[in-house]
Amino acid sequence: MKRKLIIIGLDGATFDVIDPMLEDGQLPSMARLISGGVRARLLSTIPYATIPAWPSFVTGKNPGRHGVFDFFDLSGPKRRISSSQDIDSPTLWQILSNEDKRCVVLNVPATFPPAPINGVLVSGMLTPSDSRFASPPEMMDFLHRETDGYRVNIHSHLTDQSLVDDVHEVTEKQERAFLSLLSQQNWDFAMIMFRATDVIQHHFWDQQEIVRECYRRVDRSIGNILEASTGAATFLVSDHGLQGQYRDFHINKWLVDEGYMFIQRGRATDLSRWEHIRRLDGREELAESQLRRSYAARLLLRMGITGHSVRRLLPRSWWRALKKSVPRGLRNHVPASNDLIYDVNWDRTRASAYQLYATESKAIKIVNLDDDSRAELAAELVDRLEQLRDPDTGTPIVRRAHRREDLYSGPHMHQAPDIVLDLHNGYNITNAFFADDCVTPRDEVRGCHHREGIFVAFGDGVEREKSLVSAPSLMDVMPTALHYLGCAVPADCDGRVLREIFDRHSETAKRSTRYQDTEHSETHTGPHGDLSDKEEAEIEERLRVLGYL
Ligand SMILES: [Zn+2]
Repeated sequence: MKRKLIIIGLDGATFDVIDPMLEDGQLPSMARLISGGVRARLLSTIPYATIPAWPSFVTGKNPGRHGVFDFFDLSGPKRRISSSQDIDSPTLWQILSNEDKRCVVLNVPATFPPAPINGVLVSGMLTPSDSRFASPPEMMDFLHRETDGYRVNIHSHLTDQSLVDDVHEVTEKQERAFLSLLSQQNWDFAMIMFRATDVIQHHFWDQQEIVRECYRRVDRSIGNILEASTGAATFLVSDHGLQGQYRDFHINKWLVDEGYMFIQRGRATDLSRWEHIRRLDGREELAESQLRRSYAARLLLRMGITGHSVRRLLPRSWWRALKKSVPRGLRNHVPASNDLIYDVNWDRTRASAYQLYATESKAIKIVNLDDDSRAELAAELVDRLEQLRDPDTGTPIVRRAHRREDLYSGPHMHQAPDIVLDLHNGYNITNAFFADDCVTPRDEVRGCHHREGIFVAFGDGVEREKSLVSAPSLMDVMPTALHYLGCAVPADCDGRVLREIFDRHSETAKRSTRYQDTEHSETHTGPHGDLSDKEEAEIEERLRVLGYL
């Protein structure tokens, strides 16, 4: 029988939510896969952010080798959104295509612009609206027809129940599109990635019933996919986990207070961004909501009213009561702080985490220094950040401050942030310059990323009822998938084949892994990935509103 594999990606899924739901019998499809297969905690990249996690997943390599460290690429003169063309390494489906395996890939982040493969590729997160999101492009009509208007992106400007409804609508359309492709294509490998779990947990961590409903819906989608793919092996993978965040660490305020970064009243970065979005012509609902937000924010700023200034004036209990009584949609109009009318003085600054990387990346860049002084400052920052204590609780904030040399290797090392922070559980990092303290309690609990994601494997040749004691790496999944399908693994992969998941009597366990040298020239065959300013602004705004920046 022809060997087939499906990978179902669940962005940000965590066993912390799944396990209690399994016990209550609320996730029958996941229960079937887990009890009949292998489960493991899956260690994400550092930073454990959606990007670079998915590029590391699709290449089996660390970001120093594939070159994508963040939602943004800083290697050129201008910061731009990372694209599939920035991934300097063959992806799982490019290798499978070269071995004549037919692939269906849908909604994986950083796959725009979609490069041609042997099969169908539908791009995911970081795809501009109104763009050519599928390869071959004629598949776009098919997907629109099958789903009554296919959608790549969630409407990020929505809040509360309308956001939940929108996320579920996108999930449902993507599931339908995937099922149609599964029945239309004679595939060997198929992958779908659901973003619902990440978005819902980020926004509604304090409302666990909404989170659980999201998992139940995704579980139903998994059930439908399993039904449509009998005989195929299935992997469930998340790029990182999620947890509640209770305390904010304002890294930029700390860098300013300690004299590493300097700010000045100036360019009003965010206001000019809003102006820019206002000029985007018409069509986007985004533009309208941002326009309202922009006027309101300007007015409030002029009057000196910001979330930060109001909170300083009120006793904490009044502040909480005020926040509760104002709906979230309205609260979004109030600027968080004076940050909006300040900017970094880049000439005097030596280290910054502002407006370079996404906050999820928890990354610091050192600027204006030669190599020796740079190494010296990095060592100093690592030391001081690891010593840092929460002034209220006395506990450490930073679990590890990693220097880039300790995390990455490969030809793209020079693009890496100088320092990446791994924070203790419950701490989140922000972009703010202004706050009462470098660490403050959060007014409302949201979800933030956790390094431990999930891995589940199920199918012919895979062990049953097994839980791996030592957690594999996210980078191990791709070589494991290649080996399972009988294809050669690139010799320079950082990940390894997870032989321990296979039944030792099976053909897969007995067969030795084939390796092959990577030929870099083969990887860049797709269309050029340059986005227009309008597309860049649109994607950046979506990331910001969803809480990634
Ligand atoms: Zn993610």
